[in-house]
Amino acid sequence: MKRRGYFYVALATTLNIIIYALTLGRYLWLEGRVSGGVFRNWGRRYRYRPKNFVKPTTEEEIVALVRSAKGVRFYGAAHSFNNGVVADHTLVSLDNYKGVLWKNLETKQVAFKGGTRIRECAALLLDEGLAFGALPSHDAQSIAGIISTDVHGTGRDWGFVSDEVVSFKLIDGKGVVHECEPEDDLFKTAIGGIGAPGIISEVVVQAVTRFNIEQKVEMSNLPFVRENFDRLFDENEHMSLYLFPFTDRCQINTWNSTEKRRSFLDRLREFLSISKDALLSAWFGGFMANTGLLPKLSSLSYSFKRGTDLVMESNKAFNRTIYPLHQELEFTIPFEKTFEMCRRFIKLFEDMYRAEKLPYALFEIRFTPAGHDRTLIGAGRERRSTWINLVLNDSNGFERYYAAAEDLMREVDARPHMGKYCQSFTKDDMMRLHQQHFTKFLQIAKQHDPEGKFVGDFTRRVFWD
Ligand SMILES: Cc1cc2nc3c(=O)[nH]c(=O)nc-3n(C[C@H](O)[C@H](O)[C@H](O)COP(=O)(O)OP(=O)(O)OC[C@H]3O[C@@H](n4cnc5c(N)ncnc54)[C@H](O)[C@@H]3O)c2cc1C
Repeated sequence: MKRRGYFYVALATTLNIIIYALTLGRYLWLEGRVSGGVFRNWGRRYRYRPKNFVKPTTEEEIVALVRSAKGVRFYGAAHSFNNGVVADHTLVSLDNYKGVLWKNLETKQVAFKGGTRIRECAALLLDEGLAFGALPSHDAQSIAGIISTDVHGTGRDWGFVSDEVVSFKLIDGKGVVHECEPEDDLFKTAIGGIGAPGIISEVVVQAVTRFNIEQKVEMSNLPFVRENFDRLFDENEHMSLYLFPFTDRCQINTWNSTEKRRSFLDRLREFLSISKDALLSAWFGGFMANTGLLPKLSSLSYSFKRGTDLVMESNKAFNRTIYPLHQELEFTIPFEKTFEMCRRFIKLFEDMYRAEKLPYALFEIRFTPAGHDRTLIGAGRERRSTWINLVLNDSNGFERYYAAAEDLMREVDARPHMGKYCQSFTKDDMMRLHQQHFTKFLQIAKQHDPEGKFVGDFTRRVFWD
């Protein structure tokens, strides 16, 4: 892996924010794209020159290219953290296949082309007075990329974007177009199936009437959260926690629908707050971590952090645009083990940091409800889950911690999020974690892609051999 210092991360994060502000939000530098024939994912870790690069504009073109090509992988926004977007031969971008195909305002259902970014879907829904019922934390991903990795958010009663999908179209390895609905096996294979059975070309979303969200960020401490966890959980529609190493300070984030009017200058205040957090973690957090000061300064520095309370349009409250240049390794564990597991992964970080410094880290904890049966191998399948997201600045040493964390994940039977960093998990791990669901997944994927057209390095490791 390419070596990166703390300074590189801080400068790249700053540049990203400046360019975004100067272009009034029209251009985000840290996004996946191909330029000059070279592909780079959002964090610029996966950089290669595809043998063939195609940007189809119609469904017929996608069908024709699937029929004629081999070694095909697609990308939406390349906002994933592994090499799932790297193709043996043909790399396909759906960036020229976006927008609304049809809408039914009576049923509040809208069909999007697969390459439509989630922020564009939200804006197009808003034009009709509609919104997603809930969303995950980031606005860049394509709607097809989101359901291919079964992207989750956090919620008492809601967990996944796929819950808001009525149906989708999938073009399989034989070039056949399938209409898939939630009860179909092919639907469940494609949700979280990172493109193994085919390319998702069209997604029908069930929207709701637009609404406002009150987004609160409060600083607290871990003993308080543990003691009041059930109450906090019951009182909030959506809640997440940020935990930090070497301190009991923590951050509680909540999102609740409200009749209140939007806050004054809500979007500007949110932009400033997000940018400040990104710059602080990249510069100050990186500095503390790099100089070995994390154990001494963590408690003190988080005691200065202040919360926010903003009422925003729902999509703006759920979705963020700017992030520091970072890495994420995320997985689920059973909800009942939340605090025990958080402690183990944080302790692992603290022990390794003391022995040999690691980059700045925070631990994002989210929750999804039981009964998620729209996927065969998604990490949030069926059980009530806690998602532990190990977020580290993308500088030297994160790989060492992630390697140890993946060992610990195996020990505790944690299920990996396949859109995040996932370097050592293999087919055997997937079989152990998902058992008969994985067998069924492989069988259906193989049936729809008998020649292995969609196999790439990543899926070769986690699904095939
Ligand atoms: C800053 C940041 C925040 C994030 N926050 C969250 C979060 O809150 N919750 C969460 O769950 N994840 C989150 N993620 C992870 C990530 O956004 C998702 O896993 C998602 O896949 C990215 O969508 P994309 O369009 O960029 O997909 P890509 O990265 O382009 O593709 C992801 C995978 O899906 C395949 N794929 C892409 N398009 C298609 C298609 N049309 N048909 C079939 N397969 C396809 C690709 O080949 C690849 O293997 C975050 C990522 C970043 C960078």
